[in-house]
Amino acid sequence: MFLKDLLFPKFCLGCGFLGAYICSNCQKKLSYISKDVCLYCGKASLWGLTHPGCRRNHGVDGLVSIFYYNNLLKKVIKSIKYRLALDVWEELCLVIEPDKLNKIAAYKKLNFAKFFLQPIPLHTSRLRSRGFNQAKIIASFFSQLLQRPVTEYLLRKKSTFSQAQLKNNKDRYINMRGAFEVLTREVDDKNFILVDDVITTGSTLKEAAWTLKRAGASRVVALTLAKG
Ligand SMILES: [Zn+2]
Ligand SMILES: [Zn+2]
Repeated sequence: MFLKDLLFPKFCLGCGFLGAYICSNCQKKLSYISKDVCLYCGKASLWGLTHPGCRRNHGVDGLVSIFYYNNLLKKVIKSIKYRLALDVWEELCLVIEPDKLNKIAAYKKLNFAKFFLQPIPLHTSRLRSRGFNQAKIIASFFSQLLQRPVTEYLLRKKSTFSQAQLKNNKDRYINMRGAFEVLTREVDDKNFILVDDVITTGSTLKEAAWTLKRAGASRVVALTLAKG
């Protein structure tokens, strides 16, 4: 046992068991997404790529997620505190079964494989109160897997409500509209993988893709750890 573990013992965020943030028992309760679907029509699609007929002007070109956002994962994610954030998010990425990463590694085979990983940014006030951006931690993990760099070209200029608190799609759309801006002209002609922790309605990712593409980005796909 390491000294660090003695000083700051790890307790499972799912069940309280000593030794890990996600104990082996709770790891078994993580539920993997078995079928990737098109973000727009919800029908099956290889690697979650948006069907040619479903593509939108300035839309998201594909989405892959690893886990369903089930009760266990909700509990784990909601109890992540500032001091533990980096460790817990890394552990959540590390417990992913290797073969479940294949579909993400497959992105390297696409003809737009020279992409950049762009985490969904937090508004500065949110970043200050929370102390970390979980999307950035997740992006760093996948940056190693995909051997592609993390960029910070997007800024969250509008402080938005939690999308989950809003009842209908129209409110969610209005909430997110104009939420982001690009910080540099360098996005022009580049391809991106947007990274976030959880996708629920998709309106955050759609707005971010719209912002990048309006600034000249070429292809924009998305990657989230969980899907609601
Ligand atoms: Zn547990
Ligand atoms: Zn479709």
